[in-house]
Amino acid sequence: MTVLVIADHDGKSIREDTLKTVTAAAQLGDVDILVAGKGVDGAAAAAAKITGVKKVLVAESDALGHGMAEAFEALVVPLAAGYDAVLIPSTSQGKNIAPRIAAKLDVAPITDVIQIVDASTFVRPIYAGNALETVKSSDAKKVITVRPTAFKPAGEGGSGAISKIDAGAGAGAGGAKFISEEIVKSDRPELGAAKIVVSGGRAMGSAEEFTRVIEPLADLLGGAVGASRAAVDAGYAPNDYQVGQTGKVVAPDLYIAIGISGAIQHLAGMKDSKVIVAINKDPDAPIFAVADYGLVSDYKTAVPDLMAALKKAGK
Ligand SMILES: Cc1cc2nc3c(=O)[nH]c(=O)nc-3n(C[C@H](O)[C@H](O)[C@H](O)COP(=O)(O)OP(=O)(O)OC[C@H]3O[C@@H](n4cnc5c(N)ncnc54)[C@H](O)[C@@H]3O)c2cc1C
Repeated sequence: MTVLVIADHDGKSIREDTLKTVTAAAQLGDVDILVAGKGVDGAAAAAAKITGVKKVLVAESDALGHGMAEAFEALVVPLAAGYDAVLIPSTSQGKNIAPRIAAKLDVAPITDVIQIVDASTFVRPIYAGNALETVKSSDAKKVITVRPTAFKPAGEGGSGAISKIDAGAGAGAGGAKFISEEIVKSDRPELGAAKIVVSGGRAMGSAEEFTRVIEPLADLLGGAVGASRAAVDAGYAPNDYQVGQTGKVVAPDLYIAIGISGAIQHLAGMKDSKVIVAINKDPDAPIFAVADYGLVSDYKTAVPDLMAALKKAGK
């Protein structure tokens, strides 16, 4: 079986989500990787070093550089003729391009796969992670998004062959036109890949309070900032901070939930974290059912106390 992995990258390096997708792909067969974008030499060189990658296909155009789904579809659909499966990390970018590629190939996308049983059988969570379904696909070609938290990252040590391909079909973007993009620049680790995540919920009450309470603790621990949907919907935190069923799925070493009740839709995005700490003034909050350490307390006193203790401990 031959598999094409579509890389998520920043031009210079390959994101860890892609390394985990390569691990999943290697369970199916021989792996090639597509690095598409603009100015991607660094990412292509990094992709060639991933263990198990045979070939790195590099395609560059402005539309690909802006991550436009139409450009990816035009590039990947003809390429897919040479592969049995196309695997894409289940990131914002992956979720944007996979359905379009699948529709154009006239196959059903198999999303958020957490286990590969065999070449046509896959396990994926449903009902916000409360049940797992095993699906068997009879499509000749598979288009799969992979939930990165379910796989270990592929190592370094490969020597894949890099070949530049014509972005030709992918050069334009069909009827879509790129207008502008707003990229949040942050020195913090990426939410999906961070080892520590500090998340705030509706209890923060305002954007100012969210920034005052959550961000310094995340920075002290060298972690990423997350938020519940209630906090995002209320405008306390930006959209891309959202953790949960309709946000990002994270599985850091340490997840600290502050003023978050623990609705199932939130748990769906963080319950696989290794150690969960919850601070909530309601002893019956559902978050305590999944927390390894729970502090029944007002965050207004608990967070400053925690920060003081961390600083005293040399953090
Ligand atoms: C289809 C669908 C998809 C959804 N997707 C998501 C998703 O991806 N992510 C997500 O998070 N939610 C999602 N939700 C929303 C989810 O159901 C909850 O509404 C949301 O998670 C609640 O956010 P919260 O815990 O911040 O707020 P609340 O449920 O209001 O909880 C606030 C908590 O703060 C505590 N608190 C208040 N004051 C203090 C204080 N001073 N100190 C300490 N604790 C305090 C309270 O005791 C309470 O437990 C989704 C819902 C639906 C229907």
